[in-house]
Amino acid sequence: MVKGRAADNGRVPSTSVRVRGCMSAHGPVLPIWVCAGCGLPWPCPVRRRELRAEFSGRGASLGLYLGAQLVRATEDLHWLPAEVLHRRFLGWIR
Ligand SMILES: [Zn+2]
Repeated sequence: MVKGRAADNGRVPSTSVRVRGCMSAHGPVLPIWVCAGCGLPWPCPVRRRELRAEFSGRGASLGLYLGAQLVRATEDLHWLPAEVLHRRFLGWIR
């Protein structure tokens, strides 16, 4: 009764999908959350500018995105005070 994987030859679909917003050189290096482009704490000033542009007119979405990143960073950077991380990830978007 265990069928369903027979047609799956391990092939990868040939269509490649590029996700908008993932082309930045200023992405985070995990789990230390420094910028891959300039070495500053992520999100660096360049990435903040890019995020503002990418989420232009969608401030709530930007807040949700950064809130999710903050949750991840809080797990990785558990030695940093929560208020420092909050300011770093969310304090600049207002
Ligand atoms: Zn950077």
